[in-house]
Amino acid sequence: VTTYEGRRVALFGLGGSGLATALALRAGGAEVAACDDNPASMERAQAQGIATVDLREADWSDFAALVLSPGVPLTHPEPHWTVGLARAAGVAVIGDVELFCRERAKSAPGAPFVAITGTNGKSTTTALIAHLLREAGHDVQMGGNIGTAILSLEPPMAGRVHVIELSSFQIDLTPSLAPSVGILLNITPDHLDRHGTMEQYAAIKERLVAGADLAVVGTDDGPSRLIAERREGPTVRVHVAGPTEALTPVDGLVAQEGVIREGDAVVADLTGIGSLRGAHNWQNAAVAAAAVRTLGVTGEALQAALRSFPGLPHRMEEVARRGRVLFVNDSKATNADSTEKALTAFRDIHWILGGKAKEGGIYPLVPLFSRVAHAYLIGAASDAFAATLEGAVPYTRCETLDVATRAAAEGAAASAAPEPVVLLSPACASYDQFRSFEERGDRFRELVRELVPTLP
Ligand code: ADP
Repeated sequence: VTTYEGRRVALFGLGGSGLATALALRAGGAEVAACDDNPASMERAQAQGIATVDLREADWSDFAALVLSPGVPLTHPEPHWTVGLARAAGVAVIGDVELFCRERAKSAPGAPFVAITGTNGKSTTTALIAHLLREAGHDVQMGGNIGTAILSLEPPMAGRVHVIELSSFQIDLTPSLAPSVGILLNITPDHLDRHGTMEQYAAIKERLVAGADLAVVGTDDGPSRLIAERREGPTVRVHVAGPTEALTPVDGLVAQEGVIREGDAVVADLTGIGSLRGAHNWQNAAVAAAAVRTLGVTGEALQAALRSFPGLPHRMEEVARRGRVLFVNDSKATNADSTEKALTAFRDIHWILGGKAKEGGIYPLVPLFSRVAHAYLIGAASDAFAATLEGAVPYTRCETLDVATRAAAEGAAASAAPEPVVLLSPACASYDQFRSFEERGDRFRELVRELVPTLP
């Protein structure tokens, strides 16, 4: 990136995206002064020839910008010290996505750039859009908050589409954000601890939509609806209707019982697509459909590409089938809110749950207990969860995932239900027994694959 050719740039945060940014700036002729709290990250950068300095001691009047890693506090609860120093010296504070946007504006202003944000569903929607475009033969670069850092991707050029997931932090650091398609899925009160008030959080999300040539907005929550109403440019509204809701002729796309319509026309039918099960995925798919049609993906091509979407690992991932029994890995569900989606999507559930509980436990899930045939408890939350399940759902204390998976598989195999489901959707963090939700889900997948051939 050549924005700062011949200038000095301060950079804080030398994780994956920070290092990629430092290298991209240097390749574009900037002089980078990098810094990180973690000595190991500093050493790794030095090994790549990046100069590290103590920015507390640096002459800030000399810097053209401070490039910050996302997640380093800009405003809340108080700005990071680098931000304080930059502001005091009148130095702009930006992120790697800003550098990408400037590069695109300079070298390929018409290159398609799809930017995705929202409280939930970002990764699924980003991966889905990239998949739909690739299936249609587009040259797609996908990254940002999901996977590859934006400056590690191939650069923008005519005929190449960038599909980029953005967190609120990244939007906050991108003043020139102006995607060709800007997507806002939803806004719910998550992460408010890190973003201050709901108003501030919504205002950041609104910036992505405000700068877009075309906006696609999920209108099923108040703040998002307001943002769609306030917007003046071209906007596609996406609404997920309840099963019995009467469809009034509305502007935009409506998804109901897995069928996406625009007026009377069927845009896509998600029935039977396992990777796009559940109302939340209908929102993701409808939003994706609205985005990709701007690049010519519609009709049969869209329908076929939706059908071949493999889904993301650990999010209601279908791991195996054995006879009537379906095995689903939803290890990403680390709170009751996420688990609610999985419990709503299935019946006759043999539910593996537990781990390190979050506040509120599984009380919000009580209305869905009728969908659960049996619960298998693991980890530290077992006592608390047993108390909630008591009298409503039969349960077994299994301690470990290994024991629970075996017990659940046997329970499901013995069930008379037409399609019993063994579901790992823990409603808990994994840290009491695993390093991450990925490790927990990987272990489940491995266990299921070992177990399945031995089942009746
Ligand atoms: P993100 O990248 O925003 O964290 P993901 O696509 O990784 O979102 O999905 C994480 C979890 O959030 C899923 O397992 C599901 O429970 C839930 N989810 C996905 N899409 C939506 C949506 N559109 N609305 C609400 N919840 C969703």
